Amino acid sequence: MELSEKKGHLINSLINEGILSTKEIIAAFRKVKREDFVQPQYREYAYADEPLPIIEGQTISQPYTVAAMTEALQPAAGQKILEIGAGSGYQAAILSEIIGEKGKIITTERIEKLAEFAAKNLRKASCMNVIVINFDGTQGYEKEAPYERIIVTARAPDIPKALIDQLKVNGIMVIPVEDQLLRIRKTEKGNIEKTFLGYYAFVPLIGKYGYKE
Ligand code: SAH
Repeated sequence: MELSEKKGHLINSLINEGILSTKEIIAAFRKVKREDFVQPQYREYAYADEPLPIIEGQTISQPYTVAAMTEALQPAAGQKILEIGAGSGYQAAILSEIIGEKGKIITTERIEKLAEFAAKNLRKASCMNVIVINFDGTQGYEKEAPYERIIVTARAPDIPKALIDQLKVNGIMVIPVEDQLLRIRKTEKGNIEKTFLGYYAFVPLIGKYGYKE
C-alpha cells in the first residue's frame, strides 16, 4: 500500500473514532507529511497509529495522541502558541497549518540535537511561522509571552507555574500531568479550571520545574 493510501486510512479511522472532528484540524492532518518527521528507516510506518523513536531516546507522539491534544487545544488562525517539547517538530507543523501566516508558534526543546532535527524538518515542510528554541520549557518562554495556547508534549510532575503565568486569560493549555492528560483554562480571575482528558503515556518533562535528570 502507498503511503498516501495508509495516510488516508489512518485519518479516516481517527475521524470515525471521533478523535478528529474539526475541519481545520483534519485539513492539517491531510496536509502535513508525517513521513518527513520520522527517521528514514521508519518512513513506511509513518501512518501506523504508533509513537516512533526519533533520536536521543525520545519519540514522535502517536497520531491518536497528536489528534486528541490538538482538538483539546482548540487552536485557531492568528494565535500565538507555545509548545514545550519540539521533538520531531510534527505537532508544531500541524499547529502551523491551523494558525496560518498571521499566527506564531514558539516550540522549545531541551536537547540541542533534537532542536536541530525539529528545525530542519519544519524548514523542509515550509513552516515559516514556527520558531524552534533550544531551551528548558518548564520555565516557559517569557520573551514572547503571553500565549493564547500552550501545549506540553512531555509528562510533567505538576503544572509549571511559569506556564500558567504566561498563559493569557481565557487561554487554554493542554498538558500531561503524570499519566493524566489535562486541559487547563485560565479564568478572568487568574484561576485555573481543569478538565481530565484521559490516560496517556509520554516521555518525562525534564528541567528546572519538571523532573530532575
Ligand atoms: N511534540 C513532539 C513530541 C516529542 S516527545 C513531536 O511532535 O514529535 C517530547 C519532547 O520533549 C522530547 O523531545 C524531549 O526532549 C522534550 N523535553 C523534555 N523536557 C523538556 C523541557 N523541559 N523543555 C523542552 N523540551 C523538553
